[in-house]
Amino acid sequence: MTATRIFDLHSHSSASDGILSPEALVSRARVNKVTSLALTDHDSVAGIARAQRAAVSEGVALVPGIEYSSQWREQGIHIVGLHIDPLSLSTKTAVEHQSGLRGQRAQEIDRRLASKCGIEGALTGAMRHCNGGSIGRPHFARYLVENGHARDMNQAFKKYLGAGKICDSRVSWPDFSTVVDWIKRAGGVAVLAHPAKYKMTRTKLCAMVRDFVEAGGEAMEVICGSQTPERTRDLQCIADKFALKSSCGSDFHGPGPWQELGSFGSLPAGASPVWEIWEKDLPV
Ligand code: AMP
Ligand code: MN
Ligand code: MN
Ligand code: MN
Repeated sequence: MTATRIFDLHSHSSASDGILSPEALVSRARVNKVTSLALTDHDSVAGIARAQRAAVSEGVALVPGIEYSSQWREQGIHIVGLHIDPLSLSTKTAVEHQSGLRGQRAQEIDRRLASKCGIEGALTGAMRHCNGGSIGRPHFARYLVENGHARDMNQAFKKYLGAGKICDSRVSWPDFSTVVDWIKRAGGVAVLAHPAKYKMTRTKLCAMVRDFVEAGGEAMEVICGSQTPERTRDLQCIADKFALKSSCGSDFHGPGPWQELGSFGSLPAGASPVWEIWEKDLPV
């Protein structure tokens, strides 16, 4: 009898907005009985080499990944790249491009917090939290909480950083085709991340999935973190409708309020798991 395999194909380390180091993340995955873990930091592959080394000693299969920021009809949408070559020229070019956008946005958030809210030193404070990693709004949120401007991360997003709030500085993230192309050129599989998180109508969601497929996307997350069985069934229906492979992951960011690594339901019976794409190339 073969042992059950647990795939967690969406997680973050301190190389982006996760709390744990790549080593601690992999170790936690092993404790949680995850057999295959994808590290998918926001617009960064900086943690992958360390995660890969740790994965060898922990006996976990590490899937190199990334979560790219993209946009569709002016809305920010995330696309996960799985089984990418983190050292490819395509990934390097992409990460440099995204890092430039993140840097500009961080400066704009800093300017707005200072000029509109009288909060000084936010960029320096956020940079302390991201410690050389891929800077994002959660690092600003931590600075705001630490300095008493918000009760918790959630409130920091509600008051300052979330969509439509003072620091919601619009970024021209690349479109689906550009991001899917980056992933494919790096030998990876493009996965539409957490489609249910955008709170779109089903019609709009299907329009987005259609455009993703037209851009060359091959899979979508049918399960992301904790969700109802009805939601899972509905997302599987959409995956089937567009002949997409199914992915699943926790979107773990750290111990605490986040979904735990490896802790989510199974893909529905009959789903075509995304890992079949890369496993078909393995020797039997
Ligand atoms: P960014 O990549 O800089 O645009 O920031 C997006 C990240 O912020 C997401 O990946 C989440 O980790 C985090 N985030 C978004 N909304 C919230 C919230 N309400 N509370 C805490 N973290 C959030
Ligand atoms: Mn995040
Ligand atoms: Mn995301
Ligand atoms: Mn994520």
